[in-house]
Amino acid sequence: MRQSSLVVVANRLPLDDNAAPDGACEWRRSPGGLASALHAILEQTPATWVGWGGGVGPAPALPDIGTLRLRPMSLTEDELRGYYEGFANSTLWPLYHDAVEQPVFDRGWWEAYRKVNRRFAEAAAEVAEPGAAVWVQDYHLQLVPQLLRELRPDLLIGFFMHVPFPPPELFMQLPRRGELIRGMLGADLVGFQREQAAHNFAQLAGKLLGAEGADDAIHFDGRIVHTGAFPVSIDVAEMESLSARPYVRNQARQLRRDLGAHKKVLLSVDRLDYTKGIEHRLTAYSELLRDGRVKLRDMVMVQVAVPSRERVGNYRGLRERIEGEVGRINGEYGRVGEPAIHYLNQPFDRADLAALYQTADVMVVTPLRDGMNLVAKEYVAARGDDTGALVLSEFAGAAAELSDAFLVNPHDVDGLKETLLRALDADPADLARRMAAMRAHITDHDIHAWARAYLTALDHTGGLARHLPRQRRSLARR
Ligand code: UDP
Repeated sequence: MRQSSLVVVANRLPLDDNAAPDGACEWRRSPGGLASALHAILEQTPATWVGWGGGVGPAPALPDIGTLRLRPMSLTEDELRGYYEGFANSTLWPLYHDAVEQPVFDRGWWEAYRKVNRRFAEAAAEVAEPGAAVWVQDYHLQLVPQLLRELRPDLLIGFFMHVPFPPPELFMQLPRRGELIRGMLGADLVGFQREQAAHNFAQLAGKLLGAEGADDAIHFDGRIVHTGAFPVSIDVAEMESLSARPYVRNQARQLRRDLGAHKKVLLSVDRLDYTKGIEHRLTAYSELLRDGRVKLRDMVMVQVAVPSRERVGNYRGLRERIEGEVGRINGEYGRVGEPAIHYLNQPFDRADLAALYQTADVMVVTPLRDGMNLVAKEYVAARGDDTGALVLSEFAGAAAELSDAFLVNPHDVDGLKETLLRALDADPADLARRMAAMRAHITDHDIHAWARAYLTALDHTGGLARHLPRQRRSLARR
């Protein structure tokens, strides 16, 4: 087994399910924040990625992708149900997103979660060279840092939580709350999207395990666990250059013609998830049409809702409700050949998204809770001419950075309607000022800056620097 000086451990490999292990494998980014987020770094750094390839049964051997080695993990049908669909996506996901759907506490799921976390930790221990840095990602793998530390105390271990981390009032509902916090405390650096999350974590570590310290450093088990906010970002240069391509520009012009040359285009792009606020948004749009405050002749909405977690019951229910509502809106307000809303339940590639972003007069990003929301940042990156308006939920991590967006509380449907109208009617000079300010921010805080900031901070935790090879110590400069 070849070993690497940088190991990424994530639930999924950064591949689409259909990227077959036939030797002709190419880098195919799956729709999802994490794969998109790490893509740029891993193309340049020799590393191993430990993750599940999708599907059940024995893991196929996968060839390297450029300099990236893949270590595929298998899941059985029971593990898929208990660990992934169960504990990760039916317990932790809703709980961490303000419990906007009721979290399910099923005692059977915990064993599967623990077992799979252990296997991921063992695989990471196997592929990490002495003194390597291991970067564990997200809520699926919260026990891995501690399990890995027990197996390999020589490693430098980072953990990053891509989703929100809730306040104690919510987290304390979890039956296995102490074990989850202990698992994360196995890391040298625990990173979050927002300061508030690091504060929540420090409070919980104190409350549940008697750990002492402040929001940026927690003393536990004779070690210091550093924490901090590292808001994840996008590859701004990639989105800018994609948006400048003639093919994308032509496609945007074609889309504009297809949608109606004189109409204002409202666009939303989400995974079909109950945290994304799709139903609230449809209600707001429908009421604006009903009350005649927007007119079909002036307006069209495009809702991309990428299929997601379709085996989980409440996702199927959500899809039915959304599709029913889209049908109702088109039935009541559309005309032959002129729907009020175009609904697309299919994934788009980056070029198609860039064309859609360029077509949208108003990008409507209104999750009820979201760790970051990369779509909001992608829209800004795609608007090189400083046109367009971003309506953004206060409850997306991105709102902490994109304060020049039209910020809105998506639970307040009346407020959402007013904000949509404000964005639609805004003065072009005001829009240009807002867009330029937001673009300046994301240009300075792109995906490379994020990775540099995190890896530098991990390097500086320094707990083990004494017996690490120089190679590892220079990690942050790569
Ligand atoms: N995405 C995509 N194709 C689609 C829809 C979305 O590639 O059809 C990508 C999008 O560009 C973004 C990511 O999926 O990079 C979604 O990330 P976000 O943080 O907005 O939401 P998440 O899905 O992680 O909750």
